[in-house]
Order: sequence, then C-alpha cells, then structure tokens
Amino acid sequence: MIVMKFGGTSVGSAGSIRNVIGIVKASLGRNPLVVVSAVSGVTDVLLAAAQRALDRKSFVRAIVKEVEEKHMPIIEELGLDAGMVSEELAELEHVLFGISLIRELTARTTDSVVSFGEMMSSKIVAAYARKSGINARAFNAYDLGMVTDNNFGNAEILQTTYGAIAAAVKGIPAGVIPIVTGFIGKTSEGEVTTLGRGGSDYTAAIYGAALNSEEIQIWTDVDGVMTADPKIIPDARTVDVVSFEEASELAYFGAKVLHPKTIVPAMNREIPVRVLNTFNPSGKGTLILKTVGKIERSDVTAITCKKDIYVININSARMLLAFGFLHHVFKLFDEFRVPVDLIATSEVNVSVTVERKFGISELVERLKEFADVAVLSDRASISIVGNGIRSTPGIGGRIFSALGKMGINVEMTSQSYADVNESIVIREERLDEAVRALHDEFFSASATAAAAVAATAATVVPIVAAVKVKSGKLKV
Ligand code: ASP
Ligand code: MG
Repeated sequence: MIVMKFGGTSVGSAGSIRNVIGIVKASLGRNPLVVVSAVSGVTDVLLAAAQRALDRKSFVRAIVKEVEEKHMPIIEELGLDAGMVSEELAELEHVLFGISLIRELTARTTDSVVSFGEMMSSKIVAAYARKSGINARAFNAYDLGMVTDNNFGNAEILQTTYGAIAAAVKGIPAGVIPIVTGFIGKTSEGEVTTLGRGGSDYTAAIYGAALNSEEIQIWTDVDGVMTADPKIIPDARTVDVVSFEEASELAYFGAKVLHPKTIVPAMNREIPVRVLNTFNPSGKGTLILKTVGKIERSDVTAITCKKDIYVININSARMLLAFGFLHHVFKLFDEFRVPVDLIATSEVNVSVTVERKFGISELVERLKEFADVAVLSDRASISIVGNGIRSTPGIGGRIFSALGKMGINVEMTSQSYADVNESIVIREERLDEAVRALHDEFFSASATAAAAVAATAATVVPIVAAVKVKSGKLKV
C-alpha cells in the first residue's frame, strides 16, 4: 500500500480537488490511504477565529460565516450536498461561544478549534471521491489510532500509536479508500490535539511507518526539490533523489518544500518519501531516501540561499589559548534564544550568522562586555548542498572561482565534516548573480555531462573490487 498526502493548496479549490481525485484514481491499484490538510488558509482563519472570539471584537456568528465561506464555494462547485459540513460549523460555533463567554483561550481549546479544518476538508474530499466512483470514506485520524500526549498545539505521538494505527486500518472493510485528517490526534483521555503547523506531513509519515507502506507521497504545489530557487534561476531543475540529510540542509537553509523533521518516522523505517506536484502530476518529483549513494548522483545536489541575515563578528584576544570562550559566547545565544545558522572560528575570532527576524541588540550588548563585536547587515548566505561535498576534491575551488570571476567577495565560509553542505556569506545585493554563477558552474549542460562521466567511472570501481574479492584475481 501507499500513503498519499495532499496539502492545503491541493485541496484549496474545486479544481484542485478534481486533480487530487484524478491522481488517487490512477493509484487505486497501489491501495492508497489518503491524508489531507485543511483547505488552504483555513488553519490561519481558525486560529484567528479563536482569538477574535476571545477578544469579543466580532460576533461569533460572523466568524463562523467566514469559515463557512471558505468551504461553500468548493462544495457547490463540486456539486456536493450543501449541508455536508453544517454539523462541524455548528460545533465550531459552540466552541467559539464558549471561548467568548468564559473569556479564556487555552492551547487545548485552540486545538479543538483548528481541528475543524481537517475534519471538513477530509469530508469534502471523500464525498467528491465517492461522487467520482471511488469507494472512499472520511476518517478522523484519532479514530484510526492516532494517539498523542497532551502537549496541545505541538503534540507528540505515543509509541503505542504505531500498533494502534495498524490494528485500526486492518478493521476497515476491504476496498474502502480511507481519507484521513492530517494534523490532528487525540490524547488517551480523548481530548483533541494537533501536531504543530504543517503537521499533516507528519501524519502521513506516521501512517506510512505504521502500515509499512511501499512509499509515502507528499503532494504539494511545487515540482519537488529544485536545483535552485526558480524565482532566481528560471531553468532550475527538479532533483530526482535526495538523502534525508541533504533534504534537512536544504530546508534549513531556505528551500521550503517540506519540514524534514516531519518525515523522520518514515526515514527510520527506510520508507521512501516522494514529493510530487498536484498541479503537474506527470512530473517525477523528488524522492527522499534515508541514504543516497554518491554514485547515483553528481557531487552537488542543489543550491539554496537565505536573505536577511546578520553576521555577528566576535573578536577577543582572551580567546587566545583559552578554553571556555565559546561556552561564554553561546551561553548568551541560548539565554536570548537566538538560533545560530553558520559558524566560523579563528584563534581570536568567532563569526556567526543569524536570521534578521531575531532581535539581537540586547545579545550584542552583553557580548560586548567581554569582546569586540561587529554586526554586518545586508548579508545573504548560500549553501551548496550535496552528498559528496567534502570527499570530492575541487568543489571549493569551483565555488570560489565561479564567484571570483564575477568579482563577488566571499566574506565567510563554513563547511562541516558532515559532508553535505558548504555555506558562504556574501553581500545580499549580489545574491542573485552569485546563485546564477554557481548554478551555471554545477548544473549547466557541460557541468552535468562531466559529472555523469565521473559518476560512471566511479560505478565501475566497486564492481571491479567486488569481483576481485570473490575470485581472488581481477576479472572484468
Ligand atoms: N492545516 C495545518 C496547517 O496549516 C496542517 C498542514 O497543513 O499540514 O498547519
Ligand atoms: Mg500546509
């Protein structure tokens, strides 16, 4: 069987839901379990609804009406029963009334408010699937084994969930295609919880792992992981295969296809995750595997970038031959809850990058108590991600010479031993040019041809070695 998850935009209009059902129909032979997000924008609307009910600035009836209006045009255009979500809307109204009456909004109540988004979308998708001749049925994930702790808003599943899901899904009559709510669960006491924003991917990974599925498909509105941001590089290509580690680096440094943390349950059980585009279903998408052999691919997988970053440059002669200096520095980042992206150090200097959205003025004041601190703004980082970055000679040289030719100065670099990411910092105003130069260097037709030759040569080596070991003498 396979798990197919459709995100908010994939169920965001009547047209996209038609696409979804076409895609599911084409996969019926693989025995799919479908996971859906709320209609796009609905989770935000519901979060705001809870707050507005608390503030009593709008009438609850009017708030519910807005939620209704997000769904009614879709229901009507698909020709479904106009009253099909009225039960959910009535219940939502009750909860919102409760909030405005008691004037209290807890994380627990918020979860029960937002859970209506996925409950309604799953019903709509299931109803339209049935109308299209698929024997589909909507399920709340918590009725199919999804049990969590009571960390409302960001709940974690209990280990018993895997077994519970397997048992519950086994109980579904053969031939029924389940359309399951993403994002939501219940505690063992029966209270509704949510798995954190974007949590439907996590739901899909949990079902995939629990059911030992052949594959988990994440259907979204982009073609998968791209070699670079298509807004900067219009001819960026889809990457066929990435490792989990590469996907994590790419997500962290700017490519927002999916949050890798959410697919950990799938990776732990070595279940492949494929990112696909609902609006271009014939595309191959990107396959995410736990590990990817270097031989299967060229050295560089993709280039990603982050704008709006600061470089904080911390200088202190105290660091010379001393220990504990870094501890001092990072204790403060911890205290002010400022995450660090990149680090580079020399004997008397530590440079770090931080996203501009984090306030750093107080932190900098404290750092100044024991070091000279300079903050550089208008900077951007570029990460060149690939499985073989460290172990392939010459990649650093190619990065620097491609940028050098353009007169672009690299102000800071960082590459860990982990072998997947080389990051550099430049002035933000040169970012687009820099990404283009690097993309040409690693992904132009001539660059990929050279990499293919190198990859073929590399494939031969282990085969020869294997034969040699087996027979004791070299046979090719
Ligand atoms: N609807 C939820 C959200 O917007 C979950 C999801 O879309 O994955 O965060
Ligand atoms: Mg989403």
